[in-house]
Amino acid sequence: MTEEKKSLNFIEQIMEQDLETGKFDGRVHTRFPPEPNGFLHIGHAKSICLNFGIAQQYDGKTNLRFDDTNPSKEEQRYVDAIKEDIEWLGFEWNDDILFASDYFDKLYEYAIRLIKAGKAYVDDSTAEEIASTKGSPTTPGIESPYRSRNVEDNLDLFERMKAGEFDEGSKVVRAKIDMANPNMHLRDPIIYRIKKAHHHRTGDAWNIYPMYDFAHGYSDSIEGITHSICTLEFEVHRPLYDWLIDALDLYHPQQIEFARLNLNYTIMSKRKLLQLVEEGVVSGWDDPRMPTISGMRRRGYTPEAIRDFATGVGVAKRENIIDISRLEYSVRQHLNKITPRVMVVLDPLKVVITNYPEGETEELEIINNPERPEDGSRKLPFSREIYIERDDFMEDPPKKFFRLGPGRNSRLKGAYIITCNDFVKDEAGNITALHCTYYPDSKSGSDNSGIKAKGVLHWVSIPHAKDVEVRLYDRLFNDEAPDGHKEKSFMEFLNPDSLNTITAKAEPSMLDAKPGDKFQFMRKGYFCADIETAATHPVFNRTVTLRDSWAKAQKK
Ligand code: ATP
Ligand code: MG
Repeated sequence: MTEEKKSLNFIEQIMEQDLETGKFDGRVHTRFPPEPNGFLHIGHAKSICLNFGIAQQYDGKTNLRFDDTNPSKEEQRYVDAIKEDIEWLGFEWNDDILFASDYFDKLYEYAIRLIKAGKAYVDDSTAEEIASTKGSPTTPGIESPYRSRNVEDNLDLFERMKAGEFDEGSKVVRAKIDMANPNMHLRDPIIYRIKKAHHHRTGDAWNIYPMYDFAHGYSDSIEGITHSICTLEFEVHRPLYDWLIDALDLYHPQQIEFARLNLNYTIMSKRKLLQLVEEGVVSGWDDPRMPTISGMRRRGYTPEAIRDFATGVGVAKRENIIDISRLEYSVRQHLNKITPRVMVVLDPLKVVITNYPEGETEELEIINNPERPEDGSRKLPFSREIYIERDDFMEDPPKKFFRLGPGRNSRLKGAYIITCNDFVKDEAGNITALHCTYYPDSKSGSDNSGIKAKGVLHWVSIPHAKDVEVRLYDRLFNDEAPDGHKEKSFMEFLNPDSLNTITAKAEPSMLDAKPGDKFQFMRKGYFCADIETAATHPVFNRTVTLRDSWAKAQKK
């Protein structure tokens, strides 16, 4: 029992304790509260896996509630994208989707109750006046001259704010807490403001909108949430969360904070991701280089890999930075299990097998995935002329180069051993073809040639090769902390080589790939048939290389 307890993370410990003491009558009910002002990113994925995962673990429920209290930035298309991403990650929310805006009437009523209890007031101060009288963490603030307004006047003004009688910025409602409190969030925080914006759901019904802290805790309370899990920066908001709920003597969920996911080489602020989209640095929110869930999906990441990563990194109470290679590791692990191995030559060099009969084609049987024999095998055409990778040949190779060079041999994967006898150069000195001979009795599976070949090369038969577009994606930023520089914008750290588009030579079966199908291009990496372009022409996105080439480069 104690040993088992030790391996629980701190949130699980709280859950188990609450279940034991019956704090929430044995219920676990979490929520995931995205603001529909952008697409979800890998940080949100972490929060989704945590909130939905922990509820599953304790037979609980998770609400999907959109925090739509800021009408100017929120859009229906973001709501749709967020729903799609959560479902794709493999989670189901409780009942219907919910919106903070569902509670606008109730929240308005709560504000009235606070005013009636003398716990909130209408303040005519300007934003500048409010900011300049807030004080500092070490010096108390100054009470607003409107703080002592009587209840009747407050109610009247609040109603007229709602009716749209006043201009934006001319009045706010503030909770009456404590202008000298060391916690700045308790210095009479604003709970309602005037905003004459069109809301994506309530239209023009409202001229006032609740502030995040006000709407969030009350929404949790209304929904009967037990554990309101959020990121560390909200720890200092917790006293306000608690104060607001207690001020009206409402059902009281427990707010719990954990360290947000930070990844090196990655930015996660939605505002900055939007900038990348708007300035055309990427093709959209789902560009395969984006750290968004939709971008990762299009790149070929799987929900299993993302969930494995999210659970693997655990939950921490202190800020930390996770190495992106950990995410890539989870992706490789899963793709290694599920993908067929196929042959695609990215940088082709022609090979003529001079002793192979002209015009003949042989069908070779090749196993789809050695990790999963049940995935079967397929037929692959072999002929006298094939492509291999240009860098699998060296004119003057060092001793340890186990691929082709003059007089050297290699095995063609699933086919024969060949020896390179000669090469052809054009006028500019570029190698244009190799002349090789093959050993007919060296066929894979029935090799009795007695010849040893250390290198195994992938290849594609030239008369059967299909042209496919391949997008070699790499990290979007070439700096570990692109938004961690005081004097420089993250835009200055864009990796100029984050996308390299080429035409590759693929084995014929690649034309059957359906959007989203995933492959291991032998010796080259994992690739995914592009979701958007597959209908017009075959495009394969590089999901991840076979090995972590960045880690190696850094060690040098
Ligand atoms: P951003 O800072 O990227 O704009 P946000 O926190 O404003 O994100 P929300 O839509 O409010 O975005 O986030 C929804 C939920 O996702 C919140 O509960 C938030 O705590 C959580 N979340 C956001 N970013 C991360 C992250 N990097 N790690 C873990 N959880 C996160
Ligand atoms: Mg937020």
